[in-house]
Amino acid sequence: MQNLQECHILQQPIHSFVIPAEEVAHVQPDNSLEHALLVLVKSGYTAIPVLDTSYKLRGLISKAQILDSIIGLEQIEPERLKDTRVGEVMSTSFACVNEESPFEKALSQSINNPFLCVEDQTGSFLGIITRSKLLAYLNGYLHDQKKRS
Ligand code: AMP
Repeated sequence: MQNLQECHILQQPIHSFVIPAEEVAHVQPDNSLEHALLVLVKSGYTAIPVLDTSYKLRGLISKAQILDSIIGLEQIEPERLKDTRVGEVMSTSFACVNEESPFEKALSQSINNPFLCVEDQTGSFLGIITRSKLLAYLNGYLHDQKKRS
């Protein structure tokens, strides 16, 4: 097998792995938690991006954050879902790469993140890259290299 330093896959730009913005389920900061929970449950995703009206990334919202926000002292308070906005609960720290970033960088960022957000130079949201896609590609590549050696 090749020396890892010579692996061109690590330097390959990641744009071919991007799920484009129009295929990414998202919500806006002013949406209610009820709306966000519906989108999350119906899509089956654990977390999704929060974009403003100009398609700038503002945060991520997850099922766990929503459930945590409706837990009262002694009971679950689902009525809060209608009155609380996504912007009050979302996390504003998230993993981000740009589409020219090398595979190596995306792979290392994905260790702690099931998906990475992709922005262009002006900060506009371009889409996401999932860890599963990166790993599937890497797995295929390594098998291929093994067969050739
Ligand atoms: P997967 O590797 O396909 O299971 O996706 C991992 C995570 O990435 C999901 O749980 C979601 O948080 C996010 N994700 C994947 N695809 C989408 C999408 N089309 N829209 C929004 N989030 C997504």
